[in-house]
Amino acid sequence: MKTAAQTVLPGKTRAQDVVLSVRDLAVDIRTYRGTVRAVNGVDFEARAGETLALLGESGCGKSMTAKALAGIMDPVCDLAGGEIVLNGTDLAALTPKERLKFAGPELGIVFQDALTALNPVYTVGTQLGEAFRIHQGLSAREAKVQAIELMKRVGIPEPESRVNSYPHQFSGGMRQRILIAMAVALNPRLLIADEPTTALDVTVQAQIMQLLRKLREEGQMAVVLITHDLAVVAEEADSVAVMYAGNVVESGPVSQVFSDPRHPYTKGLLESVPVHVERGAHLKSIAGSPPELHDIPSGCVYQSRCPLVQEICRAERPRLLPVNGSATNNHSETLPPRPGRAAACHFSEELNNA
Ligand code: ADP
Ligand code: MG
Repeated sequence: MKTAAQTVLPGKTRAQDVVLSVRDLAVDIRTYRGTVRAVNGVDFEARAGETLALLGESGCGKSMTAKALAGIMDPVCDLAGGEIVLNGTDLAALTPKERLKFAGPELGIVFQDALTALNPVYTVGTQLGEAFRIHQGLSAREAKVQAIELMKRVGIPEPESRVNSYPHQFSGGMRQRILIAMAVALNPRLLIADEPTTALDVTVQAQIMQLLRKLREEGQMAVVLITHDLAVVAEEADSVAVMYAGNVVESGPVSQVFSDPRHPYTKGLLESVPVHVERGAHLKSIAGSPPELHDIPSGCVYQSRCPLVQEICRAERPRLLPVNGSATNNHSETLPPRPGRAAACHFSEELNNA
């Protein structure tokens, strides 16, 4: 018999390609009103050469999840449970020092705000060379040669002269390229990109996404792409984990989740954006807002906004479980679970073809 952990994996089932496996991840925040759980039992996995999107509205715990994976949480936040298995090693079980040594070369992270992430008082060459000096013991001169190579790789023109420039001397798009270069310097197996294009204008956004695709393919990295934008997910990702109020409410291959959503939140998101509706069609926005962290209801986290809410939804929190295939003919027999599809809804089968 399969265990729940085996059956809820999003995407394909090539276990050997799994670079990152996150299980039951929980993060607490200590606030003056008490401790709240911002990430509550999150499960997903990312595969070599593929992009997994973490999708959700602002405040649903995406960045908190990213920081927990990278081991760079704010001092008021605590890892409250779960596994973060990267290439077979559980990062959550390592000491901070072991973690830096192991995860430094294996995991890169890029944030939304490239200006604050770079140090204004050092040249980009010095900052790009840091990884080589710390992790590979290169001299400053050798590290600078590597920094110039990296700048070429991420498409920064005239790297030989620009290596001596400071962050403020670059445009927003070029600064984001520098951050991406820092993240991929040691050819990590995993790249986490947290809203990497949100601060950039539209043409530059497309160039940055193109660069991430190129680097993913060259290095066969697994990419965890964090976004609130469904169009970005549709264009860039292989699989998706939809987050709501610190929980993954639905996951699976993007094409399946978007064509046949099995959680009312996913369905609501898809109906609220123009990508998947005909031109001129009326867009429905999801009424209400996500619950406050201090006020997460028992039962389903989505109950206050859900059009299908029933008594059981208030009483019992639905678990992320495999969903069955769509009925493609008139037979009413239940089809077997679709590989990699999961939803946390008591009525995910009722949403089937609804
Ligand atoms: P997202 O990236 O999905 O927009 P975050 O992961 O940044 O969301 O935040 C998740 C929740 O945690 C939000 O409700 C946010 O207000 C809260 N939060 C994040 N950081 C802190 C902090 N340092 N102190 C208190 N609350 C925080
Ligand atoms: Mg965020």
